[in-house]
Amino acid sequence: MTVQPNSVEARDQAYQLHSYTNARALERDGALVIERGEGVHVYDNNGKQYIEAMSGLWSVAVGFGEKRLVEAATRQMSKLPYYHTFTGRTHGPSVDLAEKLIQMAPVPMSKVHFTNSGSEANDTALKMIWYRSNALGKPEKKKIISRIKGYHGVTIASASLTGLPNNHRSFDLPLAGIFHTTCPHYRVFAQENETEEAFVARCAQDLEDLILREGPETVAAFIGEPVMGAGGVIVPPAGYWEAIQTVLRKYDILLIADEVICGFGRTGEMFGTQTFGLQPDIMTLSKQLSSSYQPISALLINEKVYEPLADESAKIGTFGHGYTASGHPVAAAVALENLAIIEERDLVGNARTLSPLFLKRLKALESHPIAIEARGVGLIGALELKPRDGFALGQLGPKFAALMLEKGVIGRAIGDSIALCPPLIIDEHQIGTIFDTFEASLDAFQAQLE
Ligand code: PLP
Repeated sequence: MTVQPNSVEARDQAYQLHSYTNARALERDGALVIERGEGVHVYDNNGKQYIEAMSGLWSVAVGFGEKRLVEAATRQMSKLPYYHTFTGRTHGPSVDLAEKLIQMAPVPMSKVHFTNSGSEANDTALKMIWYRSNALGKPEKKKIISRIKGYHGVTIASASLTGLPNNHRSFDLPLAGIFHTTCPHYRVFAQENETEEAFVARCAQDLEDLILREGPETVAAFIGEPVMGAGGVIVPPAGYWEAIQTVLRKYDILLIADEVICGFGRTGEMFGTQTFGLQPDIMTLSKQLSSSYQPISALLINEKVYEPLADESAKIGTFGHGYTASGHPVAAAVALENLAIIEERDLVGNARTLSPLFLKRLKALESHPIAIEARGVGLIGALELKPRDGFALGQLGPKFAALMLEKGVIGRAIGDSIALCPPLIIDEHQIGTIFDTFEASLDAFQAQLE
């Protein structure tokens, strides 16, 4: 791409350091400027249309340009554009949203605590757990177990929970006291001739071995996404969560379900917790909570977590945690309206109805000569490309995603996997277009490679 002087692209190069971007490559190539969105589509500054098959960053459930969310924000902006929830203050939208989330919770939950991003929610979960262990007189019970390839965000603590090398390398992470156990990706991590059942048992055994090595009295919590998203859409094998939770219960270890991607319909149920039979003590929510029209995230905590925390705050005089924008009234109002749309239009039902078609078309790509594995559940999936001589691992994915982008579909390269996570408002025809384009792009990419 040639970048014109004084264009948006040129000024972007001059002034922004982008997230998750090779800064030197951006100086050379410039960024893609997205100007507007409507339904499942976004448009660049040349008017080119794309299907946003990643819902932005796994988040725009109700699609782009949803007027009801604009109106909800405008109404709230006019009435009370900002207030906080510190020092015993509150406001209607945060109360309404907290009540709604407790009613929606798939397992009994006691309280909601608001934050502004998935990272902050997971960071806060970790702080709550440390605070709770101190409250319980168990100051040694502080270690947290996460998983290789899990993704939980980028703050110092949540990046430590994340089990991906690029979030640790040169950042001096992970923090001490955070451990990563086996990733439940059968194809990659199973041993030779190991059945799926035996692999699941080994994942649970690896977890138990780690707990015993560290000392069960020192391990406070386990965090996991029901389905791993940013690690490459890794759907755990049958029985995985049951086996993991049996170990956690045995050693009195709390479970944090990171529902930041799965929450609000992605897996074909309202929460991934339901799809995979989890019994979490804490759930972290964001993304589809507001369809990312506003930054907001939330933690749902059960009585087991709340009670000691409340006692400790009484002892100290305060629960010394919170952000200026926690439970922001405009973000809360938008989230409430977004949840109303998800329920009224039965978008979870839409995900469930269209999932078989989505997964059938995805699975069909697995037999393409340059593909190695298709993975998915609900309306989230990924196709992994076969490793190829002359290409380092992780080089093919971005090249392929760029080719598919040219053809008008936005997917996300995660190493050599291409992830799809379309808005929940998607229809059959649009799913057809995504996969027709995917298939044509595979053929074109194969031709390019040969
Ligand atoms: N947890 C999961 C499962 C995520 O996928 C993400 C982001 O992709 C996060 C946490 C971090 O959220 P944020 O980017 O809002 O900090």
